[in-house]
Amino acid sequence: MSTASDHDGTRPAPAGEGTRAVRAGLPEPVKHEPTLPGPVFAAHYHLPGDPTGPYTYGRDENPTWSHLERAVGELEAPGQEGVQTLVFASGMAAISAVLFSQLRSGDAVVLPDDGYQALPLVRAQLEAYGIEVRTAPTGGDAQLGVLDGARLLWIESPSNPGLDVADIHRLAEAAHARGALVAVDNTLATPLGQRPLELGADFSVASGTKQLTGHGDILLGYVTGRDEQAMAAVRRWRKIVGAISGPMEAWLAHRSLATLALRVERQSATALTLAKALRERPEVTGLRYPGLPDDPSHVVAARQMRRFGCVVSFTLPTRARADRFLEALRLVDDATSFGGVRSTAERRGRWGGDAVPEGFIRLSVGAEDAEDLVADVVRALDESAR
Ligand SMILES: *Cc1c(COP(=O)(O)O)cnc(C)c1O
Repeated sequence: MSTASDHDGTRPAPAGEGTRAVRAGLPEPVKHEPTLPGPVFAAHYHLPGDPTGPYTYGRDENPTWSHLERAVGELEAPGQEGVQTLVFASGMAAISAVLFSQLRSGDAVVLPDDGYQALPLVRAQLEAYGIEVRTAPTGGDAQLGVLDGARLLWIESPSNPGLDVADIHRLAEAAHARGALVAVDNTLATPLGQRPLELGADFSVASGTKQLTGHGDILLGYVTGRDEQAMAAVRRWRKIVGAISGPMEAWLAHRSLATLALRVERQSATALTLAKALRERPEVTGLRYPGLPDDPSHVVAARQMRRFGCVVSFTLPTRARADRFLEALRLVDDATSFGGVRSTAERRGRWGGDAVPEGFIRLSVGAEDAEDLVADVVRALDESAR
């Protein structure tokens, strides 16, 4: 049987993304073995004699991770040589692994000031370790203005929850010219929406908890990078912190990748349909979706993204109106997180932390039929007006 797996570097990566997604990371077929080997539950492996790898102890390596890591690498950087991926217990484990393994006391790092809501906590910890933290907004490539002398630039594009977009290629060139490393949080786009390494980043880092796995039932994170030394430090960080994924989660994640192209295609198409419907509503302000042709981010997004994601954000006039809207929805669960096959929405201001209006809604479009979802949202908007 032929296989489209390109992990040994001898076969060209298949051209189509759907094809690549369904076959990503699969080992060579072995008679009587499953296509995707089941999860390996092992704290330790048989290891007579000198302790050489790959599989020695369960905190360091696991064959189920290896398959998933290969798969993510094939999606993040198809056909690129020397790219490594490491999976983690969560997106935050992956983010922390990059920041805390690459930065030293006295270094400066540039973060977005409108990024993921745990970044302020990360900032406080970095500062406690004597690292200078500078922030600037994602939109308008404002991070360019604070790059001088930085050791690492952290980009989140599109940003969560505000959906601003930074020009990754432009920022990466400017950062590299100053000797800084560049990491991109690719959670919202997924590797089928955007490939940061091709745009010049050194690391693509993401939460696999969201659309990558897409069912709202596991936490996962990963780091993909091409710099061998930098990735060795990330690997070492995983070993010493032990923020590892369970084999069951890793296996479920790999299984979920087979439907990634289907989900991303469907969810981004429906997100655009919903955004267009919301644009017609007088009570909706601040509507953002990078796929909308008149969105402030659209020009840059269209240059660097292949799909624009499943998240739409907008603002309703008051907190009470937003709460009534969420309450009236039937096909959209009031829940945090995003990217799942079932639509979710929340009033983001309930958490504090994000600089958003009280009526700000982040809505994650699932895999429902577009007509049903739009009808539900429109009905809930009508009902919440009363
Ligand atoms: C959710 C999220 C994270 C954190 O991921 P966890 O898996 O929850 O740790 C990081 N960045 C972005 C953009 C996110 O949406």
